[in-house]
Amino acid sequence: MFNFKDTYRQLPATLFTESNPQQATNPKVLVFNSALATFLNLKHIPETDELAAILSGTKLLPNAVPIATAYAGHQFGHFTKLGDGRAILLGEHLTNTNQRFDIQLKGSGRTVYSRGGDGKATVKAMLREYLMSECMYALGVPTTRSLAVVTTDDDVRREEWHKGAVLTRVAASHVRVGTFEYVRYFGDAQHLQLLCDYVIQRHYPQLQAQPNKALVLLEAVIESQASLISEWMRVGFIHGVMNTDNTSICGETIDYGPCAFLNAYKLDTVYSSIDEQGRYAFGNQANIIFWNLVRFAESLLPIIADTEKKAIDLANGVLQTFQARYQQQFYTKMFSKIGMAYSTDEADKVLINDLLSWMEQVGADYTNTFLAIEGISIPTDERYNSTAFLAWHQRWQKRLGDSIHSKDVKMRLRSANPLVIPRAHLVEEALNKAANYHDLELFNTLIQQVQQSDSTLVNLQFMTPPDTTFENNYATFCGT
Ligand code: AMP
Ligand code: MG
Repeated sequence: MFNFKDTYRQLPATLFTESNPQQATNPKVLVFNSALATFLNLKHIPETDELAAILSGTKLLPNAVPIATAYAGHQFGHFTKLGDGRAILLGEHLTNTNQRFDIQLKGSGRTVYSRGGDGKATVKAMLREYLMSECMYALGVPTTRSLAVVTTDDDVRREEWHKGAVLTRVAASHVRVGTFEYVRYFGDAQHLQLLCDYVIQRHYPQLQAQPNKALVLLEAVIESQASLISEWMRVGFIHGVMNTDNTSICGETIDYGPCAFLNAYKLDTVYSSIDEQGRYAFGNQANIIFWNLVRFAESLLPIIADTEKKAIDLANGVLQTFQARYQQQFYTKMFSKIGMAYSTDEADKVLINDLLSWMEQVGADYTNTFLAIEGISIPTDERYNSTAFLAWHQRWQKRLGDSIHSKDVKMRLRSANPLVIPRAHLVEEALNKAANYHDLELFNTLIQQVQQSDSTLVNLQFMTPPDTTFENNYATFCGT
């Protein structure tokens, strides 16, 4: 089924532990992503018990040498030793165009890194990751993907008993900032260099000939994370738990826990119940990624230069470029959202900033505001008839002039602005129906609606924000 050609196991043995998934009781395929299976050119496999056995880790493929990877991380600012406590890397699948993807089972039982945990996952949590990651993919945001959710008859105890499940996650790799932190604090400089070389070869091969690989890797990761966070800001995504172990080196969104999409535009929006300080609030995501990148730089210091002082100077020089890179990425996407190309004109930035301020002031819906600008029919909202909005709209029309009807403007608007996002109230309803009643209709429809690129085929129900009672009381839980 998979064409496993593993490379990670060539790294020093401290970085992983060979480890088989646990046997699951009565695994059954609940969702299978055949489009992704086709993309990966997996041989057609019917959704049988055999498939469920493979994707729950119960039946091991003959060519698989599964491992759990070691990593550390700063969680809410505090350094901890972690590792795959409830995930197993089955192997690296090579497609027929030589693209390499990690195939990871999440929720397949304990590993040496599990600490007190059971290594398992609930159906709802795994369906959430499946749904959110596939929606992010549909919206054009770099992300890990989901191949399947398989349920088991193994009970999982959280606050209450839940049904267990295993998610098959597909990622460009699972190397995290936390992987580097692990080697920095529990390994040596030689191991660090090997990991650095490995990541460059796998994700940034264009940097292979550079004399200071660690420094150029730092720069490349700064750039890819600046781009990723600006994409989150483009679509209104709040990750919710941006710990350094959840920051992927290749620039994919990873680990969908207490994440959610923004309804009304509000920079201090926090949905995660454990984020009491608002550390991971919507508008703080760029600051936090910078904080994480500083941790990344710190872990690279021993291989950036031969003295710490020199290494710090070099690293700081690169870190200082983050703000400018992020601003450029952010405004490029924001300009796109109003049909414009990137501009260095302050007046143009003011046009964007004024729109954002207006949204925040009146509590306008982030997604629908841009659709209103574009002229796509959205659920009725009096705010778009207000003098303030109409005045902004006129300024915008004047700024674009005749080009407003051009193909370029239309294309930018259409590619930057989602028609439908997976709104939390619908996500919750879809997950409850799927997990509790085995009713996947809303779950599937929601993904299809987010994938829909024709505005006339979008159902208004999926564009309607929740009422304020929902919005004010909504909290997401890690719910592992
Ligand atoms: P996450 O919140 O999914 O990013 O996980 C943070 C850390 O906790 C990782 O090292 C996970 O492997 C570990 N972890 C989360 N849930 C469990 C669980 N049920 N059993 C064991 N380890 C877990
Ligand atoms: Mg994690």
